[in-house]
This record gives sequence, structure tokens and C-alpha cells, in this order.
Amino acid sequence: MKLDRRNFIGSSAAIAAALTAPTVMASGKPRVVVVGGGAGGATAARYIAKDSKGAIDVTLVEPTRSYYTCFFSNLYIGGFRTLDSIGHSYGNLATEYGINVVHDWAVGIDRGAKTVSLAGGSTLNYDRLILSPGIDFIDGSVEGWTINAQNKMPHAYKAGSQTELLKAQIEAMPQGGIFAMVAPPNPYRCPPGPYERISMTAHLLKAKNPTAKIIVADPKPKFSKMGLFQEGWGNHYSGMIDWIGSEFGGGNVSVDPDAMTVTIDGEVTKVDACNVIPAMKAGRICEIAGITEGNWAPVSGHTMQSRIDENIHVLGDASAQGDMPKSGYSANSQAKVAAMAVRGALTGSKVFPAKFSNTCWSLIDTNDGVKVGATYEATDEKIAKIDGFVSKTGEAADLRKATYEESIGWYSGITADMFS
Ligand code: FAD
Repeated sequence: MKLDRRNFIGSSAAIAAALTAPTVMASGKPRVVVVGGGAGGATAARYIAKDSKGAIDVTLVEPTRSYYTCFFSNLYIGGFRTLDSIGHSYGNLATEYGINVVHDWAVGIDRGAKTVSLAGGSTLNYDRLILSPGIDFIDGSVEGWTINAQNKMPHAYKAGSQTELLKAQIEAMPQGGIFAMVAPPNPYRCPPGPYERISMTAHLLKAKNPTAKIIVADPKPKFSKMGLFQEGWGNHYSGMIDWIGSEFGGGNVSVDPDAMTVTIDGEVTKVDACNVIPAMKAGRICEIAGITEGNWAPVSGHTMQSRIDENIHVLGDASAQGDMPKSGYSANSQAKVAAMAVRGALTGSKVFPAKFSNTCWSLIDTNDGVKVGATYEATDEKIAKIDGFVSKTGEAADLRKATYEESIGWYSGITADMFS
């Protein structure tokens, strides 16, 4: 049966049937191809291979040999982490779990034939396909900026060389210079990410360039953990950060990467470093697969199956799933639900109701950590929030330090859950 959005939504019976009817292959084992070896994809590949104990053939397609986590990449900018400490390789997934790790780009998906074609020329067959390609940027969303300008005005919203470049540009600013950020519109990867980055940039500048200024042009009237960030900016970086929200023209912005200028609501400013974070959409392979509606790929929260093709599961940032923020924690949580559903469908193993959780920690200054989080359940319409929590303004220093330390433990845990 090919499910479309109309007959898939609310169709719990169809989902239950899909989960309990194992696919018996005429020959060999069922095959799962995972595209994207990040927070969603690496976790899903690892859990399917580990828990099926060799009963499912798992291939992971990922172009890079080292995955640099976006999570904690702001801490690298602030000087709290080295770049090496946020880089991870795929060796263990191959040696410990027998995952076939292919370093290549997926460039085509034939949903009828159930094949994935790779840039290198080979073709992979699948019984279930998992797509977790993260995000791509929407062309033209910031006037004057294209991907060709990413070396002059880095986005640093895919970690690695972009993050390294942005940090080098901040460090090279003249004394008293200006750093600008163009923040993205909703929805986007990591809601507190731009504001943690502002905090970490301010931390770096405070030590090396204390008279420097930071301008943020924001198309939104408010942002994640806003009260907490603004309190922290006042406490630690007083007078350094000028956040211009939508009501003050922050969304009316253009950049000129050659002239290194930023124009906010008609006012032109010459800047010394500029971080442009454009509007986002699902990683392009989702569009190529024909499973997007608008900018994102709609999924059922019960299984993370695409609402357009039941043989494809979409995880993480690329998915339109409901209430969860686009975060590494969310992608990892969704991956475990999808892995269980895929094993259930392909080997008949038991499937439990989907439950999800997320916490996003942010560091504002040394030992000043804050967090926001929630638990979620799958309904027929979406992944729905059950309850949540958020740090409070005015918290004691030892609680903030404990929150930061908690985030270090989380980082070790999630990266082990993806790669070890
Ligand atoms: P990704 O982790 O980006 O993985 C996608 C992978 O797919 C990439 O490795 C890419 O190379 C690969 N890929 C793409 N297209 C193809 C293709 N065609 N073929 C093969 N492979 C392909 N989240 C948190 O939980 N906590 C945080 O503290 C946090 N901080 C952040 C800070 C910053 C500055 C940023 C930018 C993000 C942060 N995030 C954080 C968000 C988190 O990084 C993402 O939400 C998470 O990585 C999403 O996982 P994903 O699997 O969807 O995508």
C-alpha cells in the first residue's frame, strides 16, 4: 500500500500492521540503508545493527570521514573545547556492529525500485530507507548572501571547517571592531544555537578584544531562552551586545560580503566579521526523494515513517514531526523510535509505543549553563509535548555550574550512543 498524507494520518491500525508484519526476503537478509551519519543517522544505524544482532544488513552512507558535532561547536568558538574534541569517526560502527559504512553522497532515490544511487556511481537496494541528512539553506533568504559567500561570511551551521573559519575571523578582528550575526527565521536547527554562539563570541572577545561590539539582526520578535540569555549578557558582557529584533527592523536585512557591510533597516554598518545563518529546509536528498511538503519532510511520530512513502523513515532536522525542536538530542531520540519500528517491520521484533525526550543546554559564560527540555509522545497527528522545564533567571551560581557539568555528561553520552 502506498500511503499518502490523507490516509496515513490517524491510521494507527495501518501503522500497527506495518510494524508487526515482518518482511521475509526471498534470499538473504532484509536491507536497511541509512543516508546521513549525524545525530539521527548514526544512532539509527547503530541501534538497528546492534539490536538485530546481524539479522539486518545495515549500510550507512555519509560523505565525511569525520563528523564534527554542531553541538558544542559554539563551545569551541568560546575556547572551552578543541575542534578535535568534537570530531568523531565511523570506524567502530563498522568493526563493532558490521555496519557497511560507505563514504559517498546519496544523489538519487528511486522509490519504486527501492534503490539509492551514489555520486560514486553505485546503487544500493533497500527494504527500508532512513534519511537523516540534516538541513540545507534556502537560496535568497538573506539578500546579498549565497553559498558562494560562505568563506567571507560563514554560516558555521554545519560544523567543521566553517566553524574553524568563523572563529579565526572573530580572533582576527581589530581592537574595537564589529561582529555581526544575521539570525535565522523559525523553524531552524537548534533554537538556542545562535544565542549561545553570541554568548561564546562575547566570551572570546571579552578576553582578547574587550572594546569590540556585537550586533545581531534577528527576523524574530523573541527567541529560545531569551530572558536567560539577556540576563546573562547583562551580567557578563554588559554594553557589548546589541540585539535588534523584528520590531526594530532586524528582519529587514541585507549583506554585501565583498564590502563587508550589513544593512539593517536602511542603516549600513561596516563589519569586521559576519556570521550569516540563512533560513533552512530539509537536506536536499529529501526533496530529490519527493517526500517533502514545503520545506520539510512530514512523518508519523509513531514510527518516524514518511507520510508520503511508508518505506522511508525521516529523522532529525529534516523531518516535520510536530512539537520537538530540531536538535541533536531530538534526532537521537527519534532514531531509537525509528530503529525499533524498522526492526519490528523487518524481523517481527516487539515494538513499544513511541516516547521521546529532549534537553538543550547552552553555555552563557564560564560555569553559567542553562537548559530547556521536554518529554513527548506520538499522537496520530504529531509528536506532542507532554511536559517541559526551563532554567530560571536569577539562579544560584552553583546550580548554573551543575547545569553546565550536566551538559558535559550529555555530550559524552550522546556521542557514545552514536559512535561507540
Ligand atoms: P546532522 O547531524 O547534520 O547529520 C546529517 C548528516 O547527513 C551529515 O553528516 C551530512 O554530511 C549527511 N548528509 C547530508 N546529505 C547527504 C547525502 N545526500 N548523502 C549522504 N549523506 C548526507 N543539538 C543539541 O541537541 N544540543 C546542542 O547543544 C546543540 N547545539 C548546536 C549548536 C549549533 C551551533 C548548531 C548549528 C546546532 C546545534 N544542535 C544542538 C543541533 C544539532 O546539531 C542538529 O539538530 C542535529 O545534528 C541534527 O541531526 P541530523 O541527523 O538531522 O543531522
